[in-house]
Amino acid sequence: MNDLALRIADVGLPHPLLVIAARAAIAAGDPDSAADEAHRLRRSLLGPAVNATGVLLHTNLGRAPLGNEHSRALLHSASDDQPVRFSNLEFDLASGRRGSRTTHASLLLATLTGAEAALVVNNCAAAVTLVLAALARDRGVAVSRGELVEIGGGFRVPEVMEQSGARLVEVGTTNRTRAADYRAAAERDDIALLLKVHPSNYRITGFTEETSVAELAKIGPPVVSDLGSGLLDERCPWLGQRPDWLAGEPGARQTLAAGASLVTFSGDKLMGGPQAGIVCGRADLIAACAAHPLMRAFRPGSLVLDALQSVALAYLRRDADAIPFWRMARVPVEELSQRAEALGVGRPSRTTALAGAGSLPGQAIPSAGIELDGDYAATLRAFDPPVVARVNEQTTVLDLRTVDPADDAVVAAAVRHALSQQ
Ligand SMILES: *Cc1c(COP(=O)(O)O)cnc(C)c1O
Repeated sequence: MNDLALRIADVGLPHPLLVIAARAAIAAGDPDSAADEAHRLRRSLLGPAVNATGVLLHTNLGRAPLGNEHSRALLHSASDDQPVRFSNLEFDLASGRRGSRTTHASLLLATLTGAEAALVVNNCAAAVTLVLAALARDRGVAVSRGELVEIGGGFRVPEVMEQSGARLVEVGTTNRTRAADYRAAAERDDIALLLKVHPSNYRITGFTEETSVAELAKIGPPVVSDLGSGLLDERCPWLGQRPDWLAGEPGARQTLAAGASLVTFSGDKLMGGPQAGIVCGRADLIAACAAHPLMRAFRPGSLVLDALQSVALAYLRRDADAIPFWRMARVPVEELSQRAEALGVGRPSRTTALAGAGSLPGQAIPSAGIELDGDYAATLRAFDPPVVARVNEQTTVLDLRTVDPADDAVVAAAVRHALSQQ
């Protein structure tokens, strides 16, 4: 076993993992497959992938793409090769005493959304759970029957509600919920919050009616809006103007201005940052959330907070190019077409990309890439680094909107390799 493990050392894994691969090959009665086993094991580790699906926020591929900017921004600002060891994560540099890890990002996020205060947790599911637990434990939370949705990945509004200890009070009907429905619930029941949930990847169309945040705010209990997608401001000041494909997506700033007491959203959807959950709004409610014992379990680490801070600073500088999601989302189609021609493989074609991650279902972003006749998805995935494409009825589509230009050569090599495997 040890000999076999030594023979496959060039796979580049630590010895104990080579032993696992060797053991699996021997157990399968095929010692010659040890190197293949080791390669399989190496590919099961977390690693880079080239996203040629055209879906910018692809949950399976880590949602928002992360650039070096994210990890280099402040902690590494002096020089790239300076080692990073400690930070002022929970240290107040003015007083020399213990500080709070939530203060760094709070001011930036509050400034970006026009909120009094902000709080960062590990993801939006944690943000919603924390808000409900801190502000509505053992009390009622009114939610429209049309918004009792499952977002995907197990985020189901009634279950999150149950876990938080709040009591779900359903109002209205699946297709129509009016202000009077919420008001009636608030009059007959002990309602701590009115919760509005962005239906994300789900749409009710036809004979429908929903109640706006502005109308809900007049009823009395604080309004919490779970936006999920995390568009900070509908006017997109960091772009100069709002792109067509964003039409209809609610912004955190506008939702708060309309009267929501709190909004919750993900850091790694339209915000384009690392996985995080953000709560913005009234200072007293944020303080109650920050003081809740669950906050200890939901608090993010310094790597996430640093990456989030660098994204927030890029927004404040109105530097959309420093945020990989926005950089990729706004590349002109002509530029993508030229890159597709330059690949020198496949059939250059116009495609449609998507924001993804539940925001804006079906809102296409004009894009370009190449097409191949036949299904090459598996061979492209087997390339090193893996290239993930999409397949429509025996046509493989590689969309360049989600590919970093630095990876065009990888895409071309993977396609040439796939075609040669025929
Ligand atoms: C995506 C989404 C969530 C879950 O966000 P995570 O950051 O993945 O936990 C919650 N609510 C809404 C409306 C969403 O769109």
